Amino acid sequence: MQGSITGRTVVQPTTLGDALKLLRDERALTPMAGCTDLYVSLNFGTLSPTRFLNLWGLDALRTIERRDGRLWIGALATHTDLIRSALVRRHAPMLAAAAREIGGVQIQNRGTIGGNVANASPAGDTLPVLAALDAVVVLRSAQRRRSVPFTEFYTGYRKTVRAHDELIEGFEVPAVRGRQWFRKVGTRAAQAISKVVMAGVVGPDPRVAIGSVAPTVLRLRRTEAAIARGASLVDVQQALALEVAPIDDVRSTAEYRRRVAANLLARMLRSPSA
Ligand SMILES: Cc1cc2nc3c(=O)[nH]c(=O)nc-3n(C[C@H](O)[C@H](O)[C@H](O)COP(=O)(O)OP(=O)(O)OC[C@H]3O[C@@H](n4cnc5c(N)ncnc54)[C@H](O)[C@@H]3O)c2cc1C
Repeated sequence: MQGSITGRTVVQPTTLGDALKLLRDERALTPMAGCTDLYVSLNFGTLSPTRFLNLWGLDALRTIERRDGRLWIGALATHTDLIRSALVRRHAPMLAAAAREIGGVQIQNRGTIGGNVANASPAGDTLPVLAALDAVVVLRSAQRRRSVPFTEFYTGYRKTVRAHDELIEGFEVPAVRGRQWFRKVGTRAAQAISKVVMAGVVGPDPRVAIGSVAPTVLRLRRTEAAIARGASLVDVQQALALEVAPIDDVRSTAEYRRRVAANLLARMLRSPSA
């Protein structure tokens, strides 16, 4: 049954400091950014929280800049911000590529990278990109700031290490050597949730990350090791097959996902450019 906004409250902090104090003092507050995921839950009648903390006005969380040789992306940067950012296109072109394939223009204008990551769907398109970039999630509470490697952020299906009083402040992306590559396979090119989504770096330090084939996004360490030692394509694909655990669901079958994952890997390794 469709949910209703009646009886729900939105708190509007004007500074990050105020937002963090509100989160510390009130356990029941749920952060909201672009609302593109939250609104879907409301529409499906599965949104249980009643009090929300509106982050949208906190411009301090929207910065994209270089900091100490790393790319810094604030959690409130929208997918459109990522597409338009010259820094993202230069240092993390596969993140701009992923943002371009998220939803349609309206979703790209409202949906944020922080919301995509915090929502913790195994099909989230920026997740394999951030995993392959060795990004770091920066979490902030009223008391402290802590950094969590992206590959340690998820602890299970839709579970993260984020505590209730923490916000994702942003992401640090270290410099990457090699060619970046991103592909998403869905029912159609736009407005489709991924059946398989893969991101990788081809170069001296090969990296492969994949979404929609396990309860959380995966970094494929054994596949990466096989690529690094120059194994044949068949052996690399076998390594991948042992690392993924796809399931049959409403969007696809496990068998289809296995085949597509192997094909995407071959395409990534053969592709001359990102
Ligand atoms: C029509 C449609 C198409 C879509 N297509 C795609 C697609 O192709 N690919 C894809 O990956 N996704 C897709 N999505 C999902 C969604 O748009 C993205 O996940 C988006 O990035 C979510 O960001 P948001 O700011 O709207 O999050 P919100 O809905 O505001 O929040 C989502 C979750 O994150 C939490 N949250 C938000 N910001 C923070 C923060 N800074 N710190 C802590 N917690 C936070 C919220 O509490 C909530 O639990 C689609 C959604 C719709 C409705």
